[in-house]
Amino acid sequence: MQRHTAQSADAERTSETTTSEPSSTLEDALLQLERAAELVDVDPNVIERLRHPTRVVQVSVPLRRDSGEVEVLSGYRAQHDDVRGPYKGGLRYHPAVTAEECTGLAMWMTWKCAVMDLPFGGAKGGIAVDPKALSAAETERLTRRFAEEIRDVIGPTRDVPAPDMGTDAQTMAWFMDAYSMQEGETIPGVVTGKPPVIGGSEGREEAPGRSVAIVAREAARYYGKSIDGLTVAVQGFGSVGANAARLLDEWGAAVVAVSDVGGAVYDPTGLELSAIPDHETQPEAVTTFEDAPEQRSNAELLELDVDILIPAAIGGVITEANADVIAADIIVEGANGPTTFDADTVLEDRGVPVIPDILANAGGVTVSYFEWLQDINRQSWTEAEIEAKLTTKMQSAWEDVEAVYDPAMMTWRDAAYAVALSRIARAKGARGLWP
Ligand code: GLU
Repeated sequence: MQRHTAQSADAERTSETTTSEPSSTLEDALLQLERAAELVDVDPNVIERLRHPTRVVQVSVPLRRDSGEVEVLSGYRAQHDDVRGPYKGGLRYHPAVTAEECTGLAMWMTWKCAVMDLPFGGAKGGIAVDPKALSAAETERLTRRFAEEIRDVIGPTRDVPAPDMGTDAQTMAWFMDAYSMQEGETIPGVVTGKPPVIGGSEGREEAPGRSVAIVAREAARYYGKSIDGLTVAVQGFGSVGANAARLLDEWGAAVVAVSDVGGAVYDPTGLELSAIPDHETQPEAVTTFEDAPEQRSNAELLELDVDILIPAAIGGVITEANADVIAADIIVEGANGPTTFDADTVLEDRGVPVIPDILANAGGVTVSYFEWLQDINRQSWTEAEIEAKLTTKMQSAWEDVEAVYDPAMMTWRDAAYAVALSRIARAKGARGLWP
């Protein structure tokens, strides 16, 4: 390990980015890779290979709207690296989906699977569409046609999609059905995050939130904080945020603020979480329920003086513009990429630890792995088994990262990258470059 020397380069980037567009997911993913490459003793040829995705597939997806009109949407699947096993990662339905964004998110999946020591590589895909503007029937038709358009590049031993922003268990069920119909046999292992009745896993839905809570508990322990009365603010009350908040509350923490797109509710003594509707129960209703306590904006939630801040909504919410007013002692990333590269630099200078997404929210892909194992072995594990296995896996990943983490030399993100990159580099070294 050598001390990173990215400081002066960071200063340059900082001044550049104040005058230009905010950095993109892919730019940030590449900057993080470059920074980590300076820290780990990894063959530069391997780093060079990891800068480029294996392939990025773009397809046109014609959708017959309920009105009868046909609209042609763009779909993508970015496959970053598969040296450790089949490509793995979610499918996102969101207006901002692009080939570039999928590529950056696919890179993060490669590191995430490697940090967790799962036998998978990294991928991400999706469709540039606003899912809220589609009826259920339209979403079904769109998903089935998208499955057909990318069928050649996916499969249970090739590339295994899963839910991500704007998609859910039902989307995966349609996707699996479309794929299976075309292949002529039922193939549950083609996607994960399905409903349990067709080969989905118990505990998959709660898994990303559960891992965020486990990692937040470990981080609190590392910094000598007791879980009892630990103050927590959670941005986003969807699957990740709501499950993380509920578990931390159950373990004795005081969840003082939660939010959705409509804004945040705040109670410095701890919220009564059971009274707040999550996204599943009633979308975007966090601030509208009866007896809602004090309200805050989403921006204000991020600035609350709490022990732990969990950004679990969307990417790019902690930026250079607000990183210096974050008052939380620790940030645990629930969303993918909530902290930009430039914000990371500011937080590092201020001594605010950021526990990265590729570790914190990795419970999702970990239980996806359990689901895939159950599917290919025609087994069904109980929820208690899943919870126990997930806890063991998260704790051992935390220990691997903690063993590398040296506060004088690196951030938690650097440490997680170091664990991931050394595993990937060893695999690339053993397999070699063909031909
Ligand atoms: N979309 C989730 C993530 O970003 C899960 C991916 C998966 O289970 O393959 O980690």
